[in-house]
Parts: sequence; structure tokens; C-alpha cells
Amino acid sequence: MDYDAFFQNKIDDLHKEGRYRIFAPLERLCGQFPKALYHTSDGDKKEVTLWCSNDYLAMGQNKVVLNAMREATEKTGAGAGGTRNICGTTPYHLLLEQSVADLHHKQAGLVFSSGYVANQGALSVLAGLLPNCVVLSDEKNHASMIHGIKDSRADKLIFKHNDLDHLESLLKVLSKDRPKLIAFESVYSMDGDIAPIKEICDLADKYGAMTYCDEVHAVGLYGPRGGGISEEQGLLDRVDVLEGTFGKAYGLMGGFVTGSAPVIDAIRSYASSFIFTTSLPPALLAGSYASVEYLKTSEIERARMKKNVAYLKKTLDREGLPYLKGPSHIVPLIVGEPTCCRMVTDTLMQDYNIYVQPINYPTVPRGTERLRLTATAAHDAKHIDLLVGALSELYAANHLMQYAQA
Ligand SMILES: *Cc1c(COP(=O)(O)O)cnc(C)c1O
Repeated sequence: MDYDAFFQNKIDDLHKEGRYRIFAPLERLCGQFPKALYHTSDGDKKEVTLWCSNDYLAMGQNKVVLNAMREATEKTGAGAGGTRNICGTTPYHLLLEQSVADLHHKQAGLVFSSGYVANQGALSVLAGLLPNCVVLSDEKNHASMIHGIKDSRADKLIFKHNDLDHLESLLKVLSKDRPKLIAFESVYSMDGDIAPIKEICDLADKYGAMTYCDEVHAVGLYGPRGGGISEEQGLLDRVDVLEGTFGKAYGLMGGFVTGSAPVIDAIRSYASSFIFTTSLPPALLAGSYASVEYLKTSEIERARMKKNVAYLKKTLDREGLPYLKGPSHIVPLIVGEPTCCRMVTDTLMQDYNIYVQPINYPTVPRGTERLRLTATAAHDAKHIDLLVGALSELYAANHLMQYAQA
């Protein structure tokens, strides 16, 4: 078999469907975010404004965070030197795990290499250990949750997105003594809508289910201490397991789960993707700790971001541009056609020095291709005016409203 030809064919399929992924090489400039240097394919560099970063609060260039990272590196060196089980658990790990447990008022926390690995590891253990468990999973759950549920080999029932009636209809017919796990997100990362957490927990109580909530796009951002939507809505004690990342609002990388001591200890003890991998380096852990602790008290960044998000939405409204109206900070601007979606982002980059990555199938359903705009704490009104001005011109010149309304 000609293996190369086979794989080239698979790549060609992606090109044909207009969903071949092209990565943009970006050199972030510390202290100048949301500006960055875009490295073009012909070796040039040009300054662009980032409009799709998850560094929502600009913590990636926060002095407190950078100092903590430097200090940890000077003190202990580069890597952790082992897996958590063998020589790679440091005081930085334990401190960060206490910090996230405290963030969610839970008994325990556990740190993973990433939010993806946290979801995959935690869900595979929880649903895998519970005998004859059935997982009730929101249809829009992130790939990492789907991966974890699949690895658990438990039965899975998918409920319509944020649909309580559908969820209850599925719960109702399950035998009473069968273990159940409801897995969902708080802020959905591609649509920017928010789950009815309280009502899901009410159903979980009624039918004896455990609850697992991915707060990846909410930790650091919502709630008086950045605990997420569950904290903002006073529901921290209602959700059994909360999951988050240090990679988005906290500005670094790494993931975590929080919950009761036995649940977290079970995940620690049984999750392969937690045990059989080198643990995170002290610099990352110290940076994440500094970031989490900082955002437990500092409101300035959250307030700035909210102000920018509100102004972005208002400006899009004024221009009549078609974004999904939701309660969160995520602003999905619908294009509705994959080739146009890429054309818009290419033109923004070439002619306006604005970088937004097109979001196409399979990340979102076909026909809903979009630009996922993120106004961060580091943007200002001028950035927003420039962006919306450019988008207005592009939508008008290319008659793009026809796709968005189809
Ligand atoms: C980004 C994301 C993750 C994964 O988190 P990482 O720390 O980036 O691996 C998990 N869940 C959701 C909903 C996400 O958007």
C-alpha cells in the first residue's frame, strides 16, 4: 500500500470541504497584548490585533504571574523531573490543588496537564468505576468530555443542548438504582450560551445522579472570586465535580478538577492520563497559583473585559451584524458558509491586520460557520471600532448576510 498517497487523499478531502486547518504563527509580545507579530509564509512579520484569544483577562502578561514563574524557575529549575507518582510531585502541585479546592469550596482538587486531559481522565474514571453507569451528556459537550466518556465504556445518552425536558425524559426511564452521571458545561465555548445549572442539579437530585460541570470558559471570569458560573449563581455546593483550565482566563496552561475528597482521590488513583505522564513544571504551577489567587480578589480585569464585551455587542448591533446573542463574554459572529468564513478571516488579516481564526465544521455544525470573537480586558474601544468597521465593509461588499440568515 502507498501509505503517503492514502494520507494525502485524506488531506485532500479536507481541502475540498474547505475545512483544512491552517495555523497562524503568532509571536505574542509581552506587555502589548492584544497585539502580536504574525509571521507570514514569505518570512515577513507584521503587527496584528488578536481577536480570538482565550487569554481573556491578559493574565498571560500579568506581572504577578510572570514574577512567580521566574522565581519558581530560579529556585527549582525547569522541569518537575518525573511523573506525579515517581519523583514529580512538588510543593507547587499541592499548593495549586489547595488553591483550586478553596476556589470552589470543595474538599479537594487535582491538577492535570491540560483541561482536555482533566476531562478525559476524570470522566473516564468516574463513569468507568461506577458499576453499570449511564452518562447523560449534553450534545454540545467539548471533545475532551466525549473522549473521557468513550474511554469509560459506560452507556451514554445524549440530551439536546441545555434541554431540561429532554434530559428528564431520559432520566425518567432509567432504573432507580442505576448510577447516573450528568456531564455538561457552564459556558459553551462556541455559542457563548450558559447551562441551566440549578435546574440540572435539581433533576440530578430528583433522579439520584452525580453532576459534572466543565467551567473551562468561566473560571477566573465569573463569580466574585472567579470560581465560575456555579459560584456566580451560588451553586458550588450543588455540582459534584467542577472542571477548569489554567489555559484560558488564567493565562497559562494546565487543567483541574475539584470535588469531594473520595471522588478526587479516586480520580488521582485511577486516571491513567494523570499518573502515566510527566507532571507540570514548577514555573507553570507557580504562575497558575499566582493567577488563581490574584483573581480571587482583583475585579479590575473582569470589569474591563465585561465593559469591552458590552461595547463590542453594542457596536455589532448598531451595524446589524449577525452574532449569536448570549449572556456570556463569547461573541460568535455567524458567516454560515465555510469558504466565505475563510475568505473573511483571510481578508481581515491581509487588509486590516486583524487576526480571527475561522471556526468551521466539525467544531460547529455546517451552515453555522463563524468567527468566534473574544473581547479581552486588554482591548479598548478603538480596537473594537476598527474590527466592527472592517466586518461591516466585508459583509456589505460580499453580500454575506444571505448565508447568515439562511
Ligand atoms: C479548551 C477547552 C477544554 C480544554 O482545556 P485545555 O486546558 O485547553 O486543554 C475543555 N473544555 C472546553 C469546553 C474547552 O473549551
